[in-house]
Amino acid sequence: MKFTELGLSPEILEGISRLGFETPTPVQAAVIPAILNNGRDLVALAQTGTGKTAAFGLPILQMLDTNIKTPQTLILCPTRELCMQIARDLENFAACVRGVRVLAVYGGADIKPQLAAMVRGVDIVVATPGRMVDLLRRKRADFSKIKRVVLDEADEMLNMGFEEDLEAILSEVPDGAQTLLFSATMPRQVASIAKKYMKDPEEITVGTRNAGAENVSHEYLVVHAKDRYRALKRLADFYPDMYGIVFCRTRQETQDIADHLGKDGYKSESLHGDLTQQQRDRVMKRFRARELQMLVATDVAARGLDVTDLTHVINYSLPDDLGSYTHRSGRTGRAGKTGVSIALINMREHNKVKFIEKQLGRKFVQRNVPTGADICQARLLGLMERLSQMNPEPGLIDEILPSLCASLEGVSREELLRRFASMELQRMLDYYSKEPDINTEPLHEGSHAARKKQTAAGGLVELCMNIGKANRLAPKQLMNLVNVADRSSSVEIGRINITHMQSYFEVPRDAAQAVIDSFAKSLVDFEGRRVSVTLAGAGNPAKRDEKRAANPHRPNRPKNPPGKKPGHWQK
Ligand code: AMP
Repeated sequence: MKFTELGLSPEILEGISRLGFETPTPVQAAVIPAILNNGRDLVALAQTGTGKTAAFGLPILQMLDTNIKTPQTLILCPTRELCMQIARDLENFAACVRGVRVLAVYGGADIKPQLAAMVRGVDIVVATPGRMVDLLRRKRADFSKIKRVVLDEADEMLNMGFEEDLEAILSEVPDGAQTLLFSATMPRQVASIAKKYMKDPEEITVGTRNAGAENVSHEYLVVHAKDRYRALKRLADFYPDMYGIVFCRTRQETQDIADHLGKDGYKSESLHGDLTQQQRDRVMKRFRARELQMLVATDVAARGLDVTDLTHVINYSLPDDLGSYTHRSGRTGRAGKTGVSIALINMREHNKVKFIEKQLGRKFVQRNVPTGADICQARLLGLMERLSQMNPEPGLIDEILPSLCASLEGVSREELLRRFASMELQRMLDYYSKEPDINTEPLHEGSHAARKKQTAAGGLVELCMNIGKANRLAPKQLMNLVNVADRSSSVEIGRINITHMQSYFEVPRDAAQAVIDSFAKSLVDFEGRRVSVTLAGAGNPAKRDEKRAANPHRPNRPKNPPGKKPGHWQK
């Protein structure tokens, strides 16, 4: 299949050929003719990095009527970065088309220039939902001529809580407009938006539903929670050429990890919502220029980053939902390259891996955390490889060589290599000669080892939160609330049960009081309600009973098969 066979105009073809696009990606081959040839609504399930911006961008550009002053196409996407990137991509695609005006409208920036540009006249508005609602409220956006609406990364927009904003925006769009929805996954919320706002949509699935990118392999390492950071360092040492993103769950964790890595001499910085736009831009510039080896980021901050050639995605902590995992792992393995997504899990998180495995339909391979010996061997072999490939220029070195040889006379080849290697890697050899093996095994629920370990660690206790389904609380938000209340620790949360009026969640016994206190101190609000946490059942048996009544058949956690023998590290 060639771009010329898709019905695109010569101007558009010239634009993409300047960008070096030669063959359409599968999503482009399927979506471009579908948009050009009929006005039907469309739901396309495609991962990030599959070329979906061009898949909707090219036909949209081709179908613009540049005589109309007000916007004809509205593109909604979850983040500022993605918004700017889509606008940039569209301008590049339209480099040879005359008079196309694209406007990016996003929060965190002065609204005045955006308002002024809107008034001057635009053809395509690319917007984040929050800022778009703001513009609509100020009555500065005329949507009467909108012919097409694109919802890009719809699952992410809903994950981020933009449902109401999306509904407010879509209700302003003329009834006959065509809606094009792109999503990596198809959770219930996305399906319900599609049902409510789309008419008999054509469905295009590229790759398997909910599948991660084909060329990404998925691995996991099991370590004690306290050894996570050590494991991360070992990965960075084992893969000196790693160029990747380390995903954390909270801003605090992101900052802490990046600070530690910086102190330990790794080229890394953090990217999260507490940074100013200027700081974010500076970090991204350094990362793109490869001055940084690792970007430590939250899910939200890393959305829409268009960095190709990433070798690794590290899940420092696993996300709670499949969509986030798909987005994370989809940051690597792009544009035909291979990549690895590695999850660092603790002994109790094996179920999470099993769940993602099942949903993705992709196998996760358990790996050993590289030991000091693994790392030193890998580094030395890498060094020897470079040495064997080296072809020094003739010159001054040849003049000095005889005296060099004389100074090392009598030293054998092996001894020479030994001394050279230890000189090159002295710091690492010293460090790892004292470092223990930090591998551990996943706990399988119900196993003797699991019970023993839980008792040894003090076990889990159940806490009760005073909000529930009635407050529209979901497990992910509950976890966020715990993280917000206690930013200094990343407490492990076990089973979560949300009932109508309140919620229950497990934490390690020795962390329970700190969690309760952190809520008492931090005055966290959720949907206008002050959140408080108590020990479940403590002094309030009636509430405990309500929970049992609400969910009398709460299943036991599934039993897992015994863990597979971990694979060996290979470079
Ligand atoms: P996207 O999924 O739209 O973010 O695209 C991922 C990356 O692939 C971007 O860097 C695009 O510039 C690039 N890309 C998109 N389509 C093609 C194509 N047909 N050939 C080569 N590169 C492409």
